[in-house]
Amino acid sequence: MNPKVAIIGTGPSGMAAAQALAIDGYSVTMYDKADRPGGILMYGIPHMKLNKNNIIKKADVLRNLGVKFILNTLVEKQEVASKISEEFDAVLIATGAEKARDISIDGRQLNNIFFAMEYLKDNTKHLLDGTPLEIDAKGKHVVILGGGDTSNDCVATAISQGAKSVKQLEIHSKNKERKKNSYDFDEDEIKLYESTAVKFIDEDGSVSKIVTDHVEFVRDENGSKLEFQNQHGEIEADLIFVAIGFLGPIEEGLDAFDIEIDKSKHNRDTQIFTTNKENIFICGDARRGQSLIKYAIGEGKMAAIAIEDYLEHKH
Ligand SMILES: Cc1cc2nc3c(=O)[nH]c(=O)nc-3n(C[C@H](O)[C@H](O)[C@H](O)COP(=O)(O)OP(=O)(O)OC[C@H]3O[C@@H](n4cnc5c(N)ncnc54)[C@H](O)[C@@H]3O)c2cc1C
Repeated sequence: MNPKVAIIGTGPSGMAAAQALAIDGYSVTMYDKADRPGGILMYGIPHMKLNKNNIIKKADVLRNLGVKFILNTLVEKQEVASKISEEFDAVLIATGAEKARDISIDGRQLNNIFFAMEYLKDNTKHLLDGTPLEIDAKGKHVVILGGGDTSNDCVATAISQGAKSVKQLEIHSKNKERKKNSYDFDEDEIKLYESTAVKFIDEDGSVSKIVTDHVEFVRDENGSKLEFQNQHGEIEADLIFVAIGFLGPIEEGLDAFDIEIDKSKHNRDTQIFTTNKENIFICGDARRGQSLIKYAIGEGKMAAIAIEDYLEHKH
């Protein structure tokens, strides 16, 4: 009988590994807590940037190769993980790095403050399923904390939904070398550079305004740090998205398999896909931190080779 491999996470790294393993004759089952395969390609990157039909087709290619998908299944409990470890000859963790960095300032608990990924997922589900929007920017003053690519995805989505105004708070100064984003809007018209939020203002339990500070990155012998200049500003904001980066994988997914990630080994400069458990492997953003699709795909392919080497020696 063909050796059986379970892959937790159906993003680009898990899919790339599944394809390589299935082509080589392994029996592959993929688990995901989401209702559709694709990871961030499905529920993070907006449809206007990455057509979801391409992801649906990719999943069909895998199904045709014999890959089985078990969706709507969160693998976070020890008993579920133990069952998978026992049933399969090898397990690949490809759960991404979706633990979002938060901001802890006055008013964070107010209504209408969401993580970027909650917003982007809601909009894609609305487009694909026709479900009503739970987070709708129409007619709202939208402010996005953070000035990177995820923030730009939120800007484009809010504009497409008919926001009244859209602003980004970016702690860095303008980077003249930064290439133009993939959308039609001009970041310079939307970004408030060297700015951060210091307080959310409450109106009947919901956010209505943000108090901002001017900030500067100061570099000294101890590295770089953010210096607050305390030049208070206030901007209207009745819908806020937090897009200030990701901290790594959600720990529960790793703890369930009782594996520990040694960050000095599992980072973008290494190609180590093994863990402290001989039958459990890890790849993609779960291993190296939030990154890019091309690296996720590359890691999935290389992790498949590592798994095949292990299974060939074992059997
Ligand atoms: C908003 C956004 C936009 C981006 N845009 C680009 C871009 O334009 N170009 C680019 O190159 N990169 C982009 N990136 C980065 C890129 O999408 C990621 O590097 C890539 O998707 C990582 O792939 P992955 O397979 O490791 O993880 P992911 O794509 O994160 O997939 C992980 C999967 O694991 C599932 N999962 C997690 N935990 C569990 C669990 N416990 N049980 C079951 N399932 C679980 C998740 O539901 C998800 O489907 C973007 C990232 C974000 C957040």
